[in-house]
Amino acid sequence: MPKIFSDELYLRLIFFGVVFLGLAFWETKANWRQNLLNRQVRWLTHLGLGGLSFFLVRLFFPLLALNTAMLAETQAIGLFQTSPVMAHLPLGLKILLSLLGMDFAMYMQHRWMHRYAIFWRVHRVHHTDTELDLSTGIRFHPIEYFFMMGVKILAILFLGIPVMAAFIFEVMLSSFSLFNHSNIQLPARLEKYLSIICVTPKMHRIHHSDIPFEQNHNFGFCFSVWDKISQRYLAEAHQGQAHLVFGLEIYRAPAFQTLQRLLALPFLRHKALKPHRNKTVSFL
Ligand SMILES: [Zn+2]
Repeated sequence: MPKIFSDELYLRLIFFGVVFLGLAFWETKANWRQNLLNRQVRWLTHLGLGGLSFFLVRLFFPLLALNTAMLAETQAIGLFQTSPVMAHLPLGLKILLSLLGMDFAMYMQHRWMHRYAIFWRVHRVHHTDTELDLSTGIRFHPIEYFFMMGVKILAILFLGIPVMAAFIFEVMLSSFSLFNHSNIQLPARLEKYLSIICVTPKMHRIHHSDIPFEQNHNFGFCFSVWDKISQRYLAEAHQGQAHLVFGLEIYRAPAFQTLQRLLALPFLRHKALKPHRNKTVSFL
């Protein structure tokens, strides 16, 4: 049976559906800020883009994350399989370290997306969203999904990630992507404690600000530690959360928000496409 129809696909779709519907319910009942654009139109566009990307990755990638982890386990590839110390760690610790390692790889991938003009062309599809809700979490161009999968595969092979950890990470990454972009307000105390370990919607929406300095902070997907140790953590927007403006200045027009335009965006030439840089000191 082709990999595209494997059990893993169904399990991941179930997890995705539950998280999506749960957050959608939360957004409907108590949102952080009233969105003005038509939700159905936005969701159709984003589900179209995310669905197309997901399908193309499964169709064209010879090895997906789970297949790669199986290969690493059976062929003894990577640190967790070959290092005398790491190979004998308890499975729970291996999984925790694997999740941290994979999240760090994704974090670096996101930093490169902003740092290099050629990658920014692709990643700006995600940043041109003028409003934020859970559906922004799947608004990525197929090329970015290809790039993410490439980075994941390299990280899995380097670390020798256990199959179970690769599956958990895939579910965790897609769940956090929906959660971080969702238009919800966590209770203050929960926000305070959760943000010590995890990326929260409050933290990530600062990254979607149209102010370059803010865009160059809070790159994390799942764990907040990477931004903190690389001095890229911003706890609050300069003008306050209520005044955050999302999107990129030249792409605010509704004409830029259609599925066709989003697919074409990486190939459009425009002067204002260079990534914004700043002088923040960072070890990364
Ligand atoms: Zn970004």
